[in-house]
Formats: sequence, structure tokens, C-alpha cells
Amino acid sequence: MVKERTVPCTTEKRGIVLPVCLICEQTPPDGIAGGILVSGRFLCAACEDEIVHIRVGDSRYSHLKDKVKRIWARGE
Ligand SMILES: [Zn+2]
Repeated sequence: MVKERTVPCTTEKRGIVLPVCLICEQTPPDGIAGGILVSGRFLCAACEDEIVHIRVGDSRYSHLKDKVKRIWARGE
């Protein structure tokens, strides 16, 4: 067994690149089809939906905002 190095936005299993959501750090069951890629970062459909619908002042807003900022951050 070779220990895989952790890659920021994807994991690779059996040659298939599986995306890891930037927000919830989960891989959707559908893989890359279960979300969208934004600037090379992956967002699962559930988090995408949450971002689209969240309101300023919601308790999760600042948490989400911090995570979303990482989409635009380069060279982490
Ligand atoms: Zn997610």
C-alpha cells in the first residue's frame, strides 16, 4: 500500500480523480457530476445551493464566506 499524498481539491482512486468539496470537504457520490468546478476548486451541489440561497445575517454566512474566499485564493 502506497500512502497517497493529500491533494488540495481532489483525491485519486484507481485512476479516477474524485473531487473534494471546498466547503464541506466531502466527495459527492456522483463524483465530479455531483457539483461544479469554480476556478479549479470543486463545490458540491448541496454547498452550491446553500451559497446561492444564504442571506447576509444568516449564522452560517460568515463561515461560508470564509470558505468561498478560498475559491479565489491562489497558491495555498
Ligand atoms: Zn459541499
